[in-house]
Amino acid sequence: MIVLEGVEKWYGEYHALVDVSAEVKAGQVVVLCGPSGSGKSTLIRAMNGLEGISAGSIRVNGEDVQGRGVDINRIRSRIGFVFQQFNLFPHLSVLENVSCGPVWVNHMPRERAHRLALDLLAKVGLEQKAGAYPNQLSGGQQQRVAIARALAMNPPVMLFDEPTSALDPEMVGEVLSVMRALAAEGMTMVCVTHEMKFARDVSDVVWFMDRGTLLEKAPPEQFFDCPAHPRAQAFLSDIRRH
Ligand code: ADP
Ligand code: MG
Repeated sequence: MIVLEGVEKWYGEYHALVDVSAEVKAGQVVVLCGPSGSGKSTLIRAMNGLEGISAGSIRVNGEDVQGRGVDINRIRSRIGFVFQQFNLFPHLSVLENVSCGPVWVNHMPRERAHRLALDLLAKVGLEQKAGAYPNQLSGGQQQRVAIARALAMNPPVMLFDEPTSALDPEMVGEVLSVMRALAAEGMTMVCVTHEMKFARDVSDVVWFMDRGTLLEKAPPEQFFDCPAHPRAQAFLSDIRRH
């Protein structure tokens, strides 16, 4: 579903992604972890063309998302992306936030888009908030709306970049449970997260990144119980200490 081959990224003199090759199969859940500044956001953003790369290739669902002349807006509309900041449209209701993609991009009739949005809001437990505006919702609720909005485009893949990092601790669980449910339905997902319990329970593979290099790719039991790379060991013991 996602194939990365020899991906390199330079920010000027800074080598942010170093020869990254990896594959995500359909239905797999990958948790991407690593220290701050290791290149996780750069990599996941490159997967939907938000960030260009310097060399290599990235294919998502058969499409070269970094190819010359690709319609990047179309690619982005086809790959679900959930950010740390929810990025909802403040002047649109929850229902409109979720239905606007299908209406604006796919020209879905408004009625049908509203029904779809209501179904998706029910799925994330927020049907009763359809008429509310983003500033009337808690952070956890806004993030669940953001997930519903991404799902409205019926993407084959969902990418998450630290979706719970901006939330108060009591709201982390409600967002993770929506993500767990998606994973259980077989959605292909790449999640940058520091939620190690989620990683252990839900992921099929953990990718560990440091200094732009994908140092380890392992099933969660193996990654957490006996990480191979010393930097992965140090990262995990750091996380456990906190
Ligand atoms: P992570 O998400 O793992 O914390 P990032 O992918 O955001 O890491 O960043 C990786 C490295 O690239 C960091 O050292 C960061 O400072 C650098 N970087 C990120 N974006 C830019 C940019 N637009 N210009 C220059 N350097 C950047
Ligand atoms: Mg990041």
